[in-house]
Amino acid sequence: MNYSGIKYTDMVNGEGIRVSIFVSGCTHHCQECFNFKTWDKDYGDLFTLEVENQIFEYFKKYDKSIKGLSLLGGDPTFKDNIPVLIEFLTKFKNKFPSKDIWIWSGYTWEVISQSEELFSLVKLCHILVDGKFKIDEKDLTLKWRGSRNQRVIDIQKSIDTQSIIKYIL
Ligand code: SF4
Repeated sequence: MNYSGIKYTDMVNGEGIRVSIFVSGCTHHCQECFNFKTWDKDYGDLFTLEVENQIFEYFKKYDKSIKGLSLLGGDPTFKDNIPVLIEFLTKFKNKFPSKDIWIWSGYTWEVISQSEELFSLVKLCHILVDGKFKIDEKDLTLKWRGSRNQRVIDIQKSIDTQSIIKYIL
């Protein structure tokens, strides 16, 4: 898996101060995508063990101030990214069980929850921002998403209740 960047003190993508990883690879090709260069799975740099360790070290060092991890893209749920992120998140959750994990996907909750492959990654996270960016529903006043069709979903509550529970309206 490649990534286009890591923001180590991100206050925009999710709640609180976060570490945000922007992975490469996306097949959704939304019109006026904010980050179209990352459609190419080979864009950016390889997400190596060394990079993983840098992230872990950062969380150790700033444990008190960093609320969690955010996965954006591109699309973290792009096919090739799923096994790499599952392995990474498994280690991350083991080391930092109190941190929350937010994930953005071009797929909707309805599609993700019906797909064993997509769900295997998303179920490891806490909050999902779902669906493609739709230019005709663009709304700059929304928090953590660009268009009105996208939802901020509490993953674990949605699993427990087998319905879509939004984290914010
Ligand atoms: S899902 Fe995200 S990265 Fe992919 S095309 Fe849409 S806005 Fe761009």
